[in-house]
Amino acid sequence: MASTTDGFMMPLVAEEAAGFWEGTAAGELRMQACSSCGTLRFPPRPMCPRCRSTERHWQAVSSSATVWSFVVPHPPLLPAYQAVSPYAVAVVALDEDPRLRLVGNLLDTPDGGIGQVDPASVKIGEAVDAVFVTLHGDNGSQVTVPRWLRRHAS
Ligand SMILES: [Zn+2]
Repeated sequence: MASTTDGFMMPLVAEEAAGFWEGTAAGELRMQACSSCGTLRFPPRPMCPRCRSTERHWQAVSSSATVWSFVVPHPPLLPAYQAVSPYAVAVVALDEDPRLRLVGNLLDTPDGGIGQVDPASVKIGEAVDAVFVTLHGDNGSQVTVPRWLRRHAS
């Protein structure tokens, strides 16, 4: 697995999730949607859990969410993560459908680092909005990830 040029881990871009990553690169969240019943699902997978259709497409959704849960990783951590510790890793639930949950980092400013948020200040249920941050891999790759800007901080 590739690392970023500053030592963080790069996400693995799986083929089934290509539409998600094309969306983030374009600055929007896209969820896999069932072409038969319309159910949105995340993470991406080949079959609809509701109607079992394998017909699917990508659909843009709003970037608003709430903090559903979070953890504060403890040592041992990789050196880049240790340097910014403590930080929160959040699970956010999209306003579009709270069953759609994504894991990511919280931010107080759009261009902040993952260690800028004091984990003690994070509240379950607080409102966040996706911002898109491009990570540069040490192998020349790049991936744009969503991070979650706390609405009260902006
Ligand atoms: Zn379906």
